[in-house]
Amino acid sequence: MIKCPECDAEIKVLSDSIEGEIVTCPDCGASYELIKSNNGLDIKPAQVVGEDWGQ
Ligand SMILES: [Zn+2]
Repeated sequence: MIKCPECDAEIKVLSDSIEGEIVTCPDCGASYELIKSNNGLDIKPAQVVGEDWGQ
């Protein structure tokens, strides 16, 4: 189980989840991408693809 950095809710990560998968917090709806870490999987904020920031 991984805790959401935004709201501290628990995000369920299936044991067969793989790196690169997108998980969504059930509480605040934030999306995270699964990454590999020393003790299994961790999360990082998901990249927003196709968003134009006008730079
Ligand atoms: Zn959350």
